[in-house]
Amino acid sequence: MKRNFRYQRAILASSLQIARDRMTGKGRTLTAARIVLRICPDFLSRIERPSLVVAVVQASHDPSCRDLIADLLGGSGTVVYANDGDGADSVVDLFLRGKKKKRDQKAALIINLDAAEGDKVLPYLKPDLVVVGGLSLADSAFNEDMQLVSLRKLTDRIDAKGKVLLLGDDVETVFMAPHSKRVLYSVARMEGEGSDHIPLSEDRKTCPVCGKKLAYEYTRFGRLGKAQCPSCGFETPQADYVGVPDLEARAIALKGVSYWLLRDDLYGAYTETAAIAAALELGVDSAQIRGILKDMDTLSEGEE
Ligand SMILES: [Zn+2]
Repeated sequence: MKRNFRYQRAILASSLQIARDRMTGKGRTLTAARIVLRICPDFLSRIERPSLVVAVVQASHDPSCRDLIADLLGGSGTVVYANDGDGADSVVDLFLRGKKKKRDQKAALIINLDAAEGDKVLPYLKPDLVVVGGLSLADSAFNEDMQLVSLRKLTDRIDAKGKVLLLGDDVETVFMAPHSKRVLYSVARMEGEGSDHIPLSEDRKTCPVCGKKLAYEYTRFGRLGKAQCPSCGFETPQADYVGVPDLEARAIALKGVSYWLLRDDLYGAYTETAAIAAALELGVDSAQIRGILKDMDTLSEGEE
Protein backbone atom coordinates (compact mmCIF):
# COMPACT_ATOMS: atom_id res chain seq x y z
CA MET A 1 0.00 0.00 0.00
CA LYS A 2 1.82 3.07 -1.26
CA ARG A 3 0.51 6.47 -0.36
CA ASN A 4 1.91 8.67 -3.10
CA PHE A 5 1.62 12.38 -3.81
CA ARG A 6 -1.66 12.00 -5.74
CA TYR A 7 -3.18 10.13 -2.80
CA GLN A 8 -2.14 12.88 -0.36
CA ARG A 9 -3.46 15.55 -2.70
CA ALA A 10 -6.77 13.71 -3.08
CA ILE A 11 -7.18 13.42 0.70
CA LEU A 12 -6.44 17.10 1.17
CA ALA A 13 -8.84 18.18 -1.59
CA SER A 14 -11.58 15.92 -0.22
CA SER A 15 -11.16 17.31 3.32
CA LEU A 16 -11.57 20.82 1.96
CA GLN A 17 -14.68 19.78 0.04
CA ILE A 18 -16.19 18.06 3.10
CA ALA A 19 -15.62 21.25 5.13
CA ARG A 20 -17.14 23.34 2.32
CA ASP A 21 -20.21 21.08 2.15
CA ARG A 22 -20.63 21.38 5.88
CA MET A 23 -20.29 25.18 5.90
CA THR A 24 -22.81 25.65 3.10
CA GLY A 25 -25.27 23.48 4.99
CA LYS A 26 -25.40 20.81 2.28
CA GLY A 27 -24.49 18.11 4.73
CA ARG A 28 -22.66 15.13 3.33
CA THR A 29 -22.50 14.78 -0.47
CA LEU A 30 -20.56 12.51 -2.83
CA THR A 31 -18.65 15.46 -4.30
CA ALA A 32 -15.57 14.81 -2.14
CA ALA A 33 -15.45 11.17 -3.29
CA ARG A 34 -15.74 12.22 -6.93
CA ILE A 35 -12.86 14.67 -6.47
CA VAL A 36 -10.75 11.85 -5.01
CA LEU A 37 -11.46 9.60 -7.99
CA ARG A 38 -10.54 12.39 -10.40
CA ILE A 39 -7.23 13.15 -8.70
CA CYS A 40 -6.31 9.60 -7.72
CA PRO A 41 -8.19 6.99 -9.79
CA ASP A 42 -6.39 4.12 -8.00
CA PHE A 43 -7.28 5.49 -4.55
CA LEU A 44 -8.91 2.18 -3.58
CA SER A 45 -5.63 0.31 -4.04
CA ARG A 46 -3.93 2.69 -1.58
CA ILE A 47 -6.28 2.30 1.38
CA GLU A 48 -6.10 -0.42 3.98
CA ARG A 49 -8.11 -3.22 2.40
CA PRO A 50 -10.69 -4.89 4.65
CA SER A 51 -9.99 -8.55 5.28
CA LEU A 52 -13.04 -9.57 3.24
CA VAL A 53 -14.47 -7.81 0.20
CA VAL A 54 -17.68 -8.90 -1.53
CA ALA A 55 -19.03 -7.06 -4.57
CA VAL A 56 -22.54 -7.49 -5.94
CA VAL A 57 -22.33 -6.36 -9.56
CA GLN A 58 -25.56 -5.99 -11.37
CA ALA A 59 -27.44 -4.22 -14.05
CA SER A 60 -30.38 -3.23 -11.86
CA HIS A 61 -30.11 -0.70 -9.05
CA ASP A 62 -31.82 -2.97 -6.56
CA PRO A 63 -29.69 -3.17 -3.41
CA SER A 64 -31.60 -6.09 -1.84
CA CYS A 65 -29.00 -8.77 -2.63
CA ARG A 66 -26.15 -6.67 -1.18
CA ASP A 67 -28.29 -5.89 1.87
CA LEU A 68 -29.15 -9.52 2.49
CA ILE A 69 -25.53 -10.69 2.19
CA ALA A 70 -24.61 -7.91 4.63
CA ASP A 71 -27.34 -9.12 7.02
CA LEU A 72 -26.17 -12.74 6.82
CA LEU A 73 -22.52 -11.86 7.43
CA GLY A 74 -23.39 -9.27 10.07
CA GLY A 75 -25.64 -11.76 11.88
CA SER A 76 -22.81 -14.27 11.97
CA GLY A 77 -20.55 -11.89 13.88
CA THR A 78 -18.63 -10.07 11.16
CA VAL A 79 -18.42 -6.28 11.28
CA VAL A 80 -19.95 -5.22 7.97
CA TYR A 81 -19.50 -2.01 6.02
CA ALA A 82 -21.74 -1.42 3.02
CA ASN A 83 -21.82 1.42 0.50
CA ASP A 84 -24.87 3.61 0.12
CA GLY A 85 -25.56 3.53 -3.62
CA ASP A 86 -23.97 1.65 -6.50
CA GLY A 87 -21.29 3.93 -7.92
CA ALA A 88 -17.50 3.91 -7.39
CA ASP A 89 -17.94 7.24 -5.58
CA SER A 90 -20.14 5.61 -2.94
CA VAL A 91 -17.36 3.08 -2.23
CA VAL A 92 -14.69 5.78 -1.93
CA ASP A 93 -17.05 7.79 0.28
CA LEU A 94 -17.16 4.90 2.79
CA PHE A 95 -13.42 5.30 3.38
CA LEU A 96 -13.59 9.10 3.49
CA ARG A 97 -16.34 8.96 6.08
CA GLY A 98 -13.99 7.08 8.33
CA LYS A 99 -16.40 4.20 8.73
CA LYS A 100 -13.55 1.90 7.84
CA LYS A 101 -10.98 3.37 10.23
CA LYS A 102 -10.97 0.61 12.78
CA ARG A 103 -8.49 -2.14 12.14
CA ASP A 104 -11.01 -4.84 12.65
CA GLN A 105 -9.67 -8.25 11.68
CA LYS A 106 -13.11 -9.59 10.89
CA ALA A 107 -14.35 -6.53 9.01
CA ALA A 108 -16.06 -7.15 5.68
CA LEU A 109 -16.86 -4.71 2.95
CA ILE A 110 -20.02 -5.58 1.02
CA ILE A 111 -20.59 -3.34 -1.95
CA ASN A 112 -23.28 -2.91 -4.54
CA LEU A 113 -21.94 -1.85 -7.93
CA ASP A 114 -23.49 -0.84 -11.20
CA ALA A 115 -21.88 -2.95 -13.95
CA ALA A 116 -20.64 0.19 -15.69
CA GLU A 117 -18.79 1.29 -12.52
CA GLY A 118 -17.04 -2.02 -11.90
CA ASP A 119 -13.79 -1.06 -13.63
CA LYS A 120 -13.23 1.79 -11.21
CA VAL A 121 -13.43 -0.53 -8.20
CA LEU A 122 -12.81 -4.23 -8.84
CA PRO A 123 -9.22 -4.04 -10.14
CA TYR A 124 -8.18 -2.12 -7.02
CA LEU A 125 -10.16 -3.84 -4.26
CA LYS A 126 -9.83 -7.35 -5.80
CA PRO A 127 -12.93 -8.84 -4.14
CA ASP A 128 -12.87 -12.30 -2.57
CA LEU A 129 -16.32 -12.91 -4.04
CA VAL A 130 -18.11 -11.18 -6.88
CA VAL A 131 -21.83 -11.88 -7.22
CA VAL A 132 -22.87 -11.22 -10.80
CA GLY A 133 -26.26 -10.94 -12.36
CA GLY A 134 -28.46 -9.92 -9.50
CA LEU A 135 -31.58 -10.21 -11.56
CA SER A 136 -31.99 -7.42 -14.08
CA LEU A 137 -35.50 -6.37 -14.90
CA ALA A 138 -34.71 -3.94 -17.74
CA ASP A 139 -37.75 -2.43 -19.38
CA SER A 140 -36.62 -2.88 -22.95
CA ALA A 141 -34.53 -5.23 -25.05
CA PHE A 142 -32.19 -2.34 -25.87
CA ASN A 143 -31.47 -1.53 -22.20
CA GLU A 144 -31.09 -5.23 -21.52
CA ASP A 145 -28.50 -5.56 -24.28
CA MET A 146 -26.59 -2.52 -23.06
CA GLN A 147 -26.49 -3.96 -19.54
CA LEU A 148 -25.29 -7.31 -20.80
CA VAL A 149 -22.50 -5.65 -22.79
CA SER A 150 -21.16 -3.89 -19.67
CA LEU A 151 -21.48 -7.03 -17.53
CA ARG A 152 -19.66 -9.12 -20.14
CA LYS A 153 -16.86 -6.57 -20.56
CA LEU A 154 -16.41 -6.35 -16.83
CA THR A 155 -16.43 -10.06 -16.05
CA ASP A 156 -13.99 -10.78 -18.89
CA ARG A 157 -11.43 -8.80 -16.96
CA ILE A 158 -12.07 -10.01 -13.40
CA ASP A 159 -8.84 -11.74 -12.47
CA ALA A 160 -8.79 -15.26 -11.17
CA LYS A 161 -8.09 -14.39 -7.53
CA GLY A 162 -11.62 -14.44 -6.15
CA LYS A 163 -14.67 -16.57 -6.85
CA VAL A 164 -17.49 -15.37 -9.06
CA LEU A 165 -21.08 -16.34 -8.31
CA LEU A 166 -23.14 -16.26 -11.51
CA LEU A 167 -26.81 -16.53 -12.33
CA GLY A 168 -27.09 -20.00 -13.84
CA ASP A 169 -30.57 -19.58 -15.37
CA ASP A 170 -29.44 -17.17 -18.02
CA VAL A 171 -27.67 -18.34 -21.20
CA GLU A 172 -26.01 -14.92 -21.28
CA THR A 173 -24.40 -15.09 -17.84
CA VAL A 174 -23.36 -18.75 -17.60
CA PHE A 175 -20.25 -18.10 -19.71
CA MET A 176 -19.18 -14.91 -17.96
CA ALA A 177 -15.99 -14.56 -15.90
CA PRO A 178 -14.02 -17.16 -17.89
CA HIS A 179 -10.80 -16.53 -15.95
CA SER A 180 -12.27 -17.03 -12.48
CA LYS A 181 -13.42 -19.86 -10.28
CA ARG A 182 -17.08 -19.84 -11.23
CA VAL A 183 -20.02 -20.90 -9.06
CA LEU A 184 -23.56 -20.99 -10.50
CA TYR A 185 -26.86 -20.41 -8.69
CA SER A 186 -30.32 -21.09 -9.97
CA VAL A 187 -33.97 -21.22 -8.88
CA ALA A 188 -35.79 -24.46 -9.65
CA ARG A 189 -38.71 -24.67 -12.05
CA MET A 190 -42.02 -23.75 -10.50
CA GLU A 191 -45.26 -25.59 -11.10
CA GLY A 192 -47.05 -24.40 -14.21
CA GLU A 193 -44.06 -22.64 -15.75
CA GLY A 194 -43.94 -23.04 -19.52
CA SER A 195 -42.00 -21.55 -22.38
CA ASP A 196 -44.59 -19.04 -23.55
CA HIS A 197 -42.54 -15.92 -22.72
CA ILE A 198 -39.82 -15.83 -25.33
CA PRO A 199 -36.66 -14.03 -24.13
CA LEU A 200 -36.61 -10.30 -24.88
CA SER A 201 -33.04 -10.21 -26.04
CA GLU A 202 -32.02 -11.63 -29.43
CA ASP A 203 -28.87 -13.05 -27.83
CA ARG A 204 -30.94 -15.25 -25.53
CA LYS A 205 -32.90 -16.73 -28.41
CA THR A 206 -29.80 -18.19 -30.03
CA CYS A 207 -27.29 -20.77 -28.84
CA PRO A 208 -24.19 -19.22 -27.25
CA VAL A 209 -22.08 -22.03 -28.75
CA CYS A 210 -23.29 -22.47 -32.35
CA GLY A 211 -25.66 -19.55 -32.87
CA LYS A 212 -28.67 -21.69 -33.88
CA LYS A 213 -32.14 -21.17 -32.40
CA LEU A 214 -32.52 -22.36 -28.79
CA ALA A 215 -35.43 -24.40 -27.46
CA TYR A 216 -36.59 -23.39 -23.98
CA GLU A 217 -38.03 -25.94 -21.58
CA TYR A 218 -39.41 -23.03 -19.54
CA THR A 219 -38.83 -19.29 -19.38
CA ARG A 220 -39.40 -16.62 -16.76
CA PHE A 221 -39.21 -12.83 -16.64
CA GLY A 222 -38.72 -12.93 -20.42
CA ARG A 223 -34.99 -13.56 -19.93
CA LEU A 224 -34.26 -16.60 -17.77
CA GLY A 225 -35.04 -20.27 -18.02
CA LYS A 226 -33.70 -23.62 -19.07
CA ALA A 227 -32.58 -23.92 -22.67
CA GLN A 228 -31.31 -26.61 -25.00
CA CYS A 229 -29.79 -26.34 -28.43
CA PRO A 230 -31.24 -28.90 -30.85
CA SER A 231 -28.26 -28.38 -33.19
CA CYS A 232 -25.15 -28.77 -31.01
CA GLY A 233 -26.53 -30.20 -27.76
CA PHE A 234 -25.63 -27.22 -25.54
CA GLU A 235 -27.87 -26.92 -22.52
CA THR A 236 -28.11 -24.62 -19.52
CA PRO A 237 -25.59 -26.13 -17.08
CA GLN A 238 -26.57 -27.65 -13.76
CA ALA A 239 -26.06 -24.99 -11.06
CA ASP A 240 -24.00 -25.53 -7.89
CA TYR A 241 -26.73 -23.97 -5.75
CA VAL A 242 -30.37 -24.55 -6.67
CA GLY A 243 -33.01 -22.75 -4.62
CA VAL A 244 -36.28 -24.68 -4.44
CA PRO A 245 -38.93 -22.23 -3.30
CA ASP A 246 -42.30 -23.01 -1.80
CA LEU A 247 -43.97 -19.62 -2.06
CA GLU A 248 -47.07 -20.57 -0.06
CA ALA A 249 -45.08 -22.04 2.81
CA ARG A 250 -42.65 -19.09 2.63
CA ALA A 251 -39.72 -21.50 2.45
CA ILE A 252 -36.76 -22.06 0.18
CA ALA A 253 -34.59 -25.18 0.24
CA LEU A 254 -30.92 -25.12 -0.70
CA LYS A 255 -28.67 -28.18 -0.54
CA GLY A 256 -31.22 -29.97 1.63
CA VAL A 257 -31.67 -27.18 4.19
CA SER A 258 -34.93 -25.25 4.37
CA TYR A 259 -34.78 -21.49 4.99
CA TRP A 260 -37.44 -18.87 5.50
CA LEU A 261 -38.33 -17.08 2.28
CA LEU A 262 -38.44 -13.39 3.10
CA ARG A 263 -40.32 -12.32 -0.01
CA ASP A 264 -42.96 -14.63 -1.43
CA ASP A 265 -42.29 -14.24 -5.14
CA LEU A 266 -39.80 -15.54 -7.69
CA TYR A 267 -37.83 -12.32 -7.65
CA GLY A 268 -37.35 -12.70 -3.90
CA ALA A 269 -36.37 -16.35 -4.40
CA TYR A 270 -33.52 -15.27 -6.72
CA THR A 271 -32.25 -12.63 -4.32
CA GLU A 272 -32.32 -15.03 -1.40
CA THR A 273 -30.73 -17.92 -3.33
CA ALA A 274 -27.86 -15.64 -4.39
CA ALA A 275 -27.38 -14.28 -0.87
CA ILE A 276 -27.49 -17.70 0.84
CA ALA A 277 -25.10 -19.16 -1.77
CA ALA A 278 -22.75 -16.22 -1.20
CA ALA A 279 -22.84 -16.65 2.58
CA LEU A 280 -22.21 -20.41 2.30
CA GLU A 281 -19.29 -19.79 -0.07
CA LEU A 282 -17.88 -17.35 2.51
CA GLY A 283 -18.02 -20.03 5.15
CA VAL A 284 -21.13 -19.05 7.12
CA ASP A 285 -22.77 -22.12 8.62
CA SER A 286 -26.19 -23.12 7.20
CA ALA A 287 -27.75 -23.40 10.68
CA GLN A 288 -26.61 -19.86 11.40
CA ILE A 289 -28.08 -18.56 8.12
CA ARG A 290 -31.33 -20.32 8.94
CA GLY A 291 -31.52 -18.63 12.32
CA ILE A 292 -30.72 -15.17 10.93
CA LEU A 293 -33.41 -15.43 8.22
CA LYS A 294 -35.95 -16.68 10.75
CA ASP A 295 -35.21 -13.69 12.99
CA MET A 296 -35.51 -11.30 10.05
CA ASP A 297 -38.88 -12.78 9.17
CA THR A 298 -40.15 -12.38 12.73
CA LEU A 299 -38.92 -8.78 12.75
CA SER A 300 -40.69 -7.88 9.50
CA GLU A 301 -43.92 -9.46 10.72
CA GLY A 302 -43.68 -7.39 13.88
CA GLU A 303 -43.54 -4.20 11.79
CA GLU A 304 -46.76 -4.91 9.93
ZN1 LIG B 1 -25.88 -24.85 -30.30
